[in-house]
Amino acid sequence: MKKVAFYTLGCKLNYSETSTIGRIFQERGFEKVEFTDTPDIYVINTCSVTDNADKKCRKIVKEALKHSPDAFITIVGCYAQLKPKEISEIPGVDAVLGAAEKFQLVDILETFEKKEKAQIYASPVSEANTFHNSYSFGDRTRTFLKVQDGCDYSCSFCTIPLARGNSRSDSIENVVRSASEIAESGVKEIVLTGVNTGDFGIQDGKRVETFFDLVKELDKVEGIDRFRISSIEPNLLKDEIISFVAQSNRFMPHFHVPLQSGSNKVLKLMRRRYQRELYADRVATIKQLMPHCCIGVDVIVGFPGETEEDFLETYNFLNELDVSYLHVFPYSERENTLAPEMPGKVTNKDRNRRADMLRILSEKKKRNFYEQNIGREFNVLFEDDVKDGLMEGWTENYVRVVAKYDPVLVNETRHVRLTQLNAAGLMEAEETYQELLKH
Ligand code: SF4
Repeated sequence: MKKVAFYTLGCKLNYSETSTIGRIFQERGFEKVEFTDTPDIYVINTCSVTDNADKKCRKIVKEALKHSPDAFITIVGCYAQLKPKEISEIPGVDAVLGAAEKFQLVDILETFEKKEKAQIYASPVSEANTFHNSYSFGDRTRTFLKVQDGCDYSCSFCTIPLARGNSRSDSIENVVRSASEIAESGVKEIVLTGVNTGDFGIQDGKRVETFFDLVKELDKVEGIDRFRISSIEPNLLKDEIISFVAQSNRFMPHFHVPLQSGSNKVLKLMRRRYQRELYADRVATIKQLMPHCCIGVDVIVGFPGETEEDFLETYNFLNELDVSYLHVFPYSERENTLAPEMPGKVTNKDRNRRADMLRILSEKKKRNFYEQNIGREFNVLFEDDVKDGLMEGWTENYVRVVAKYDPVLVNETRHVRLTQLNAAGLMEAEETYQELLKH
């Protein structure tokens, strides 16, 4: 029996896809082993958003060969689609597969026999037009379920449409079936994942269903206690979705909504499909219906043309906004996108300084959000990781709670009252031994 090991870079979507490729290998009689074991085959799933994707890829290939010098090394993922030739020249790489080929890996490579030169199987991204159902099975508590892939938007900084193709989705029927399968395996929480998740519903180039329809159907799936929406564009986060989540016991009061900039001028340059007023309105609607809802925000700083005044506009906008944490990215040039050609390049020093300022703001926001929840009661779903004798779990509204490790608590939900932030900034809680709450 041949042994195969995996390494994933990048986003939740990549994790769900690596998991699925792993299951395909297992169904075909391969044994899945740890990276540090001595596998016969390595599959490295790459990301194009990661800075220095090339360097990271080289490092992982080198590391893999240290553990298993004769292993067959296969590279898949967004970076493999964008730069197949470049990757094939990395010493040690045996095969590169594009977006349309990655799920056929076992059929395409069959014997995994090394050739003199690396083999490339990467068709143009336009051929990545079928949807391949995927979900991760990393731990027992939470699964990332891919419901949508690709993107039809054309944000001027983004290569994802070039790496993953047009927007396409699974059907509601299939997603519900996958969710029921996941429930049967004992997993309690599903994170709905996609490139542009809110755009769910396009099949063969036509809109046939909507994300809201999907949410309503998933809410009926027995056995899953929690659904989270991983990330949704503000223009697609409609009132009906917010109202539904507010009254649902399964959809958690937690949204992650990319803003990217708080300056309308920069949003326009980025080719985003909304202005800051719409974003502020979405946050206000969420908070009106769910005052303790957690809201996460993605922001890019140092986009070409972003002056110090534009950045301060973003800073002040976020400072005023009732959100819970920020994911901050200094702008980074991507080939074949419009942004690098735009005037007003921001120096790396300024990009990093602006990012640092927003990261400090994010810490303040998070602490403030956590403090607002002290004294309130929640259900906490505990997870499997143990660190320094402590385990962690998450409230409905995504507050991370620590407790002394107790194996009985793993994958269990407990009703607690949040008591204090300890010296390390971690939230402590006391169990209240009441029936689980409906939020
Ligand atoms: S919405 Fe914009 S940033 Fe997001 S994947 Fe599509 S093009 Fe990229």
